[in-house]
Amino acid sequence: MAIRAHIELDAGAKTFATGLLLELIAALRRIRSGDLMAVVSSDCTLGTELEAWCRFTRNSVVDVSIEQDRYRWVIRCGEAPAESDREASTEAPRALGSRLWLYTNFDCNLRCDYCCVRSSPKAPRRALGSERVRRIASEATTLGVGEIFVTGGEPFLLGDIGDILIACAAAAPTTVLTNGMLLTGRRLEILRALPRDRMTLQISLDSPTPERHDRHRGAGTWVKAWKGIERARAEGFRVRLAATVATDLEAAEFRQFLDSRKISEQDRVIRRIALRGFAEQGIALARADLVPEITITADGVYWHPVGAEDEDLLVTRDIFPLADAFAAAHRAWEGERAHAHRLAAIFNCA
Ligand code: SF4
Repeated sequence: MAIRAHIELDAGAKTFATGLLLELIAALRRIRSGDLMAVVSSDCTLGTELEAWCRFTRNSVVDVSIEQDRYRWVIRCGEAPAESDREASTEAPRALGSRLWLYTNFDCNLRCDYCCVRSSPKAPRRALGSERVRRIASEATTLGVGEIFVTGGEPFLLGDIGDILIACAAAAPTTVLTNGMLLTGRRLEILRALPRDRMTLQISLDSPTPERHDRHRGAGTWVKAWKGIERARAEGFRVRLAATVATDLEAAEFRQFLDSRKISEQDRVIRRIALRGFAEQGIALARADLVPEITITADGVYWHPVGAEDEDLLVTRDIFPLADAFAAAHRAWEGERAHAHRLAAIFNCA
């Protein structure tokens, strides 16, 4: 589903050389900072010009889609929301590559209405596979990876998730992101075989009570997730609770709930809904807004786990050798920083 924009601008046959620029400026004057404007054209080459124009005017292309030979670029007016509007981080910046994300699959037992990678029971699996994960884990140890995050889709849908997690934990402390609903029967046995000292479960819980969580994730999901949390803790695993919220108020409510349960800062993650994937509302994030965290899926290497199937976040299709993939991510990061420096120089007024 296409991202909804505040203004739709049909460029027709216009380009920057034939009058589009004036229309863009006029349209931007009608919206506020943070609002979205969509530009539609059948000329795909317009994308490069729009991208360049956005960089120099401090706007951002946050989505590109194509339907019936018509391209649609969504541009966010102005900078990304200030850090206080997102979840402020107190952590020091991490070295690129110190965290490695693996998308083991894209299918899921749930279909959350804001899922940033469009996972659902109907989504094709696109499995990374235990063989590739083993090679990634072994090559990662020489590349400075200090933490591995395993996500999906729902990783516990995979029959070989135990092998995958054991391979990752042998390389670095590993966190598996899960909705916590499948930790019973055969899957509980898989969980029991994992090393407690190298493995954290990050379980999604969006609200202190079921109502809001279930509205996004489906009826009865809060109760099942809570049971999963209790089961994982009872098995001796460290559990981190992760909430995806729409407003500062929801974040504050959830923080209060975590405080009342005496859950430490290290075992909580609260983040805002990103306008990617299925989400129809949320924070529109461009690549330049995201500090890169190398993310590997069956389809290639991406800039960040949020939107790890979107073309604008693709770094390279080639996963191996992993050192080359890391080098490509470093080059892309240097490229972004060089743009930022050039802009800083251009807008340096004194
Ligand atoms: S947000 Fe997580 S649990 Fe929900 S559909 Fe996406 S992958 Fe599944």
